[in-house]
Amino acid sequence: MRPVALLGLLLLALPVGAGEAAREVALTIDDLPISGPTHDLETIQRINAQVLRILAAHNAPAIGFVNQGRVEVADEEAARTAILEQWLEADLPLGNHTYSHLSFQETPLEKFSQDILRGDVTLRRLMEARGQPPRYFRHPYTRTGPTAEAKAGLEKFLAQHGYRVAPFTIENADYLFNVVYLRARAASDDALADRIRAAYLDYTDSMFEFFEQQAADLF
Ligand SMILES: [Zn+2]
Repeated sequence: MRPVALLGLLLLALPVGAGEAAREVALTIDDLPISGPTHDLETIQRINAQVLRILAAHNAPAIGFVNQGRVEVADEEAARTAILEQWLEADLPLGNHTYSHLSFQETPLEKFSQDILRGDVTLRRLMEARGQPPRYFRHPYTRTGPTAEAKAGLEKFLAQHGYRVAPFTIENADYLFNVVYLRARAASDDALADRIRAAYLDYTDSMFEFFEQQAADLF
């Protein structure tokens, strides 16, 4: 399948089997419950409901990576937690994307590790209630560590806490398209929004081709 346009959330893809016969992809969506500029609660609920509806319509395997700091928002924590519940009710697991979306490139291991543990509070409670403790970690900004030593230290920490790194193998710069898309929508320029949407889908197709070729060349 091809990914659908889920503007407003980071969307990355993880292919599992690049052979001609069986080409599959899992979608990873970061920064739950919402990324990007400040949206009101109603918009956040609507975007998540749309994402879940589209994933279900395509029977698309997906996982959402949570920033706990985007859950613990004054007066909205219960509603934002309910959005995470909706993901789990749709049989889509959640992963840890840290509390405050720090870059590991500039953050000492000790501080970064604490941000991972703080990032774990709501999603662990919700997932353990379903008998499935969280298993996947996604580095913010894909920063896996400034040195080999830091990287190894973090991987050891993650393993001790039952986490595996969820890598991604196809990246489509959706956050850049999103900036101009939101601007076009804010200006009620539907023609421009349509062009950006089409360009985003074309670009995503080209990134599939590019990274699949890279995988074939490398492996
Ligand atoms: Zn992120």
